[in-house]
Amino acid sequence: MLDKESLHLLQEALQKLEEPYASLPSFTPAADAEALQAVLQETAGRMQDNFPFYHPLYVGQMLKPPHPMARLAYAMAQFVNPNNHALDGGRASSLMEKEAVAQLAAMLDWPQHLGHLTGGGTMANLEALWVASKLQPGKTVLASELAHYTHERISAVLGIPFEKIAVDKQGRLDLQALEARLQRGDVGTVVATLGTTGLGAVDPLDKLVALQQTWGFRLHADAAYGGYFRLAGNLEPEVARAFATLSQADSVVIDPHKHGLQPYGCGCVLFRDPAVGRFYRHDSPYTYFTSEELHLGEISLECSRPGAAAVALWATQRLLPLEQGGAFAQDLEKCRQAALQCWDQLQQSPHWMPLLPPALDIVVYAPRAADTDTISRLSQQIFTAAAKKDLHLAQFRYPTRLLPTSWQGVEIRGEWVTCLRSCFMKPEHVEWLPEIWSRLEASREEVAGPQA
Ligand SMILES: *Cc1c(COP(=O)(O)O)cnc(C)c1O
Repeated sequence: MLDKESLHLLQEALQKLEEPYASLPSFTPAADAEALQAVLQETAGRMQDNFPFYHPLYVGQMLKPPHPMARLAYAMAQFVNPNNHALDGGRASSLMEKEAVAQLAAMLDWPQHLGHLTGGGTMANLEALWVASKLQPGKTVLASELAHYTHERISAVLGIPFEKIAVDKQGRLDLQALEARLQRGDVGTVVATLGTTGLGAVDPLDKLVALQQTWGFRLHADAAYGGYFRLAGNLEPEVARAFATLSQADSVVIDPHKHGLQPYGCGCVLFRDPAVGRFYRHDSPYTYFTSEELHLGEISLECSRPGAAAVALWATQRLLPLEQGGAFAQDLEKCRQAALQCWDQLQQSPHWMPLLPPALDIVVYAPRAADTDTISRLSQQIFTAAAKKDLHLAQFRYPTRLLPTSWQGVEIRGEWVTCLRSCFMKPEHVEWLPEIWSRLEASREEVAGPQA
């Protein structure tokens, strides 16, 4: 079940870690093992109240278990507890952060870059929009209506005007609507989402790059969810074209804690032009700088940051390099394959209506019914019935005005319809698909009856 076998590797690693301190006078921090044990057992008991996110039968929200490599490296690093704010807070881990981030930049084919890890995609996007607003002061940020809600909120925090642009029936930024808005003027930044959080839809970044040449806006790619799919070899051509153009965005956000096998607390912002580092300049009376080198606290809005997150990412990328055709890329391809197979199965069944063919590894679907109210009710009931069979799905509310033509004939009874949503984020989902499908069908039959 939970991986306990690799824990002995942590013991070995800690022995190696303490080697350089062997000459120090011995010192044992006080710890009352009995008290620790009692509270830790109690804590484990409290933590039992969770869905089994690590298991292939969890096919719901965006939750992916960290790789054992990341868990072990993170746990080991905590015994040092480096702070990646200033170099003297974490010399090794700061270097490892720079190396790991450079590998992400290399994945974008950027010969140079400026970038660092953040607490997550929200902070990473905040920094990207903050830099964008310094370069395009007072001008409006545009993102699609299906972009992450964080862009609107961050813009409000930063005091930048923000507007939403309509999407097409595939959930992608609508280029005609965008051009109409660009013609009205005063647009500073366009956010392209490569993998929307709900559907995994991919905005046509290649076409946005072309528009950028005419209109001169700054182009930010929010690839918090989808960024790593640049390495996958089984994308549809137009999706692959969008990912290929990531190298032309001005800034890119990728969350290692989404598809990069990291525990939470690991986002990343990358800028194509290192000169934007000038906006971060500050005079700190607190931090004692022992190095002439640029340290990470000078290029990050967050001050103290977990060195352990950088160590975990570095170790994971060392084990699983970010290469096309490599083991990491193959696992992503399997996630997408699972989503495609599931979509095929839904499509062929008379009982289901999938929303759209998945651009990445997220599938949204609903039980077939005559009207959107019934669909919403059945979706909610199937969600609950499936959970009782240990199959964990997610619910997803979609605007009925965006329903695809394949849903023609369904009577629309309100602005929203509740569907089911599955993020196939684990490569194991491919092998588990027959089991997932049989539990899904059993749940539907239980709720709607075999004929429905
Ligand atoms: C998850 C996500 C975010 C927010 O990132 P957090 O790591 O949750 O802060 C932003 N944009 C997209 C596209 C996302 O999928």
